[in-house]
Amino acid sequence: MTTTRGFAAMSANGSLQAWEFDRREVGAQDIAIDVEFAGICHSDIHQVREEWGTAIFPMVPGHEIVGTVTAVGADVADFKVGDIAGVGCYVDSCGECEYCQSGHSHWCLNGATWTYNGYERDGSTPTYGGYSKSIVVKADYALHVPAHLDRAGTAPLLCAGVTTYAPLMNWNAGPGKKVAVMGLGGLGHMAVQIAAAMGAEVTVLSHSANKQDDSLTLGATHFVHTADGSALTNLRNTFDLIINTVSADIDLHPYINTLRAHGSLVVVGAPGKPYSIDAGELMGRQRSVAGSAIGSIKETQDMLDFCGTHNITSVVEVISANEIDAAYDRVVNSDVRYRFVIDTATI
Ligand code: NAP
Ligand code: ZN
Repeated sequence: MTTTRGFAAMSANGSLQAWEFDRREVGAQDIAIDVEFAGICHSDIHQVREEWGTAIFPMVPGHEIVGTVTAVGADVADFKVGDIAGVGCYVDSCGECEYCQSGHSHWCLNGATWTYNGYERDGSTPTYGGYSKSIVVKADYALHVPAHLDRAGTAPLLCAGVTTYAPLMNWNAGPGKKVAVMGLGGLGHMAVQIAAAMGAEVTVLSHSANKQDDSLTLGATHFVHTADGSALTNLRNTFDLIINTVSADIDLHPYINTLRAHGSLVVVGAPGKPYSIDAGELMGRQRSVAGSAIGSIKETQDMLDFCGTHNITSVVEVISANEIDAAYDRVVNSDVRYRFVIDTATI
């Protein structure tokens, strides 16, 4: 075991504080990474505050991790010391079920091992995430980060990037397609950049009137302020695909009615409460509401390579570890432009 330092929540009600804990020794299939930057995802806040149910404390959140490889296990051929590596939302899986076997280990039937707020395959050793100085992971679950991209701006790709890239790819965003992005936060601002780079015509649907300029700068062609009463009604029969990144419990009905025939509204936002669906709205033109969670390791690597090719990074505000609590409050208030990233040198 090697002792490292991180920032941890000790309970659902408390603030995050400095905490020392152990990382395992580097096994034959592992790499060790000196974490440099860790993004703050809204999912970190949902979990710290137990909005998704009972959590494991102390909790060291963080699943948007970028750093430098410092050690490589005997069986690892794919990484070497000095490489820039990333770690996303999960760090292991059973390896045997139909989804692990088909390259979709994030859908593991025996449960993927989440990067934090989870247990290793032994079912009892807690996992600790990226708000820390170092991490040890199986190399098969680590990613290669394009070296020319800004490292702080790359960390959020490991969750926000792949969570939006995967459904955009799966639902064929591209030239000739009208894609709407609901919510311009961490996920939303990645969805806009990636969908625009894929060639789609992008519209941002935002409840914040002051995000228009940023939407257009990020690559959207249209901005719609949803608080305007008739804004969504006027968009009837418009979109082929809607990516819903909203973190709050909202009414999907007015959005579903903006879909064209065969259009899909894909939910990636996870407020932790059920949505109400009106079957009639879906039946009329064979519209669908679907969901998507993160992406496979291959999709994550494909996304990083895509972002490397198109020079896409997250727009970030780099903070020190003692600013995490304040950053959480700003994220909840939709006051993040557009991802907080912790400089782990400050831990
Ligand atoms: P975020 O940065 O807080 O962005 C969420 C955006 O939702 C806000 O910026 C805001 O955009 C909009 N919003 C917030 N409250 C709203 C309200 N009351 N009404 C309407 N719009 C509202 O969060 P994030 O990190 O992007 O995460 C978004 C959600 O995705 C979270 O629930 C997170 O847990 C979930 N998530 C899911 C996955 C997955 O695998 N499916 C992965 C990562 C995160 P505007 O100001 O533009 O309206
Ligand atoms: Zn996340």
